[in-house]
Amino acid sequence: MAIESINPANGKTLRRFDSLTDEAVREKIALAAEAFRTYAAVPLEHRALCMRKLAAILEHETDDLATIITLEMGKPLHAARLEVLKCATACRYYADNAARILAPESIPTENHSYVRWDPLGIILAVMPWNFPFWQVFRFLAPALMAGNVALLKHASNVPQCALSIESLVRRAGFPRGTFQTLLIEARQVEAVLADERIAAVTLTGSEPAGRAIGAQAGWLIKKSVLELGGSDPFIVMPSADLDLAIETAVKARCVNSGQSCIAAKRFLVADEIYDVFESRFVAGMDAMRVGDPMKDETDIGPLATPRIVDELEAQVKAAVQAGARILTGGERMIGDGNYFEPTVLTGVPRTSAVYREELFGPVAMLFRVQNLNEAIAIANDTPFGLSASAWTRDPAEQQRLVSELQCGAVFLNAMVASDPRLPFGGIKHSGYGRELSAAGMREFLNAKTVVIASANGSK
Ligand code: NAP
Repeated sequence: MAIESINPANGKTLRRFDSLTDEAVREKIALAAEAFRTYAAVPLEHRALCMRKLAAILEHETDDLATIITLEMGKPLHAARLEVLKCATACRYYADNAARILAPESIPTENHSYVRWDPLGIILAVMPWNFPFWQVFRFLAPALMAGNVALLKHASNVPQCALSIESLVRRAGFPRGTFQTLLIEARQVEAVLADERIAAVTLTGSEPAGRAIGAQAGWLIKKSVLELGGSDPFIVMPSADLDLAIETAVKARCVNSGQSCIAAKRFLVADEIYDVFESRFVAGMDAMRVGDPMKDETDIGPLATPRIVDELEAQVKAAVQAGARILTGGERMIGDGNYFEPTVLTGVPRTSAVYREELFGPVAMLFRVQNLNEAIAIANDTPFGLSASAWTRDPAEQQRLVSELQCGAVFLNAMVASDPRLPFGGIKHSGYGRELSAAGMREFLNAKTVVIASANGSK
């Protein structure tokens, strides 16, 4: 696939880039290796200074950066602005908290013993287009604060975002080579990861990419973190605040025009309140304004590429063929741009393929459930295990949901969202490892045990 910026709102090519030659890639790896040798010794306070400057630049240039995001991948401009500001928050959080997270941990034994956290070296980050800044920053901020250096292979449809991020990091004062973008195609990743100077890899993306990268990293015995797809449940029980649950359900399905791994995709609603939920949820989806992502009033922009529209259309057709009913939407929109109608499906059979797939666009699947047992059973009946949102005011139900849902995060009476302070990641086919917080930062650190025998020579 060529590395191209194509405006998803009208199909016009904005810029085209040649992918780097193998030789150019090797030079960048050499520069990163050189940078790591000195960067690991740069005092934490200095790294924090650069990280705060990075936050300040993001805040100062929010509108310009958001425009690049919207032009390349189509999310509404107001959402792109929030994404850039969230990156600034993450930079500040890790500037303020890295010293605490990286502090050696004393462990009482008969000797003087502790764990110190050493950086691993060059981390390869393979990233997706859907949050083209946030996905990168949530890796970059903890990694650079911890003394690692990074190479970014961004998705082929967001090269300008990738180059902007590299330039921002340099302008913030991070030493040359600490963070570089590799404009390469997916097929070139294998050779980069195989280079012995690359210490580890993090991928946010699809299951097939996860299998390829995870398998190779396993073979090479290199640390990997995989943040893959999701088909998150949104469970609504009778005691829920129904107004808030329905309003949030629409938002949770349509966030990022439906292209978010943690968007709610399957809505499991108790029989008692199902009919009210269904009619009001459908009305909410119908009220979503689809259109020009540059306009303030737009809720849902174009999907990032024509292929995503094709895949979504095929999934909706397959669901209907299997017996599902369309309550609203169901079609790609006529005209320029990769637009798809906000869609609600009901009655998707549990035996159909779509039931087990991720719908990466504004398409919701509704299920009527008789009780909490059935809600939990359907919620867990998926290959994925990223996160879940559940709505109930009953403490006993809350306790069961928290303990029985098989996923990386459970949000009660709230929409799932990532937060620099909280671990983020999944289980099952949603991947392994964590990003963000101390858990995320430590994924790419060597927990080095140090034991200093006491002077009298004990063991
Ligand atoms: P994708 O095709 O897997 O692309 C993601 C990145 O991986 C891109 O940089 C892509 O490069 C690269 N890539 C693809 N196949 C590869 C391979 N075989 N070897 C090496 N690199 C490869 O993902 P997508 O479909 O564009 O993105 C959406 C997916 O990401 C969804 O499933 C979504 O749920 C998931 N996602 C997960 C999270 C999370 O945190 N769990 C967050 C956001 C998105 P090219 O662009 O050059 O192909």
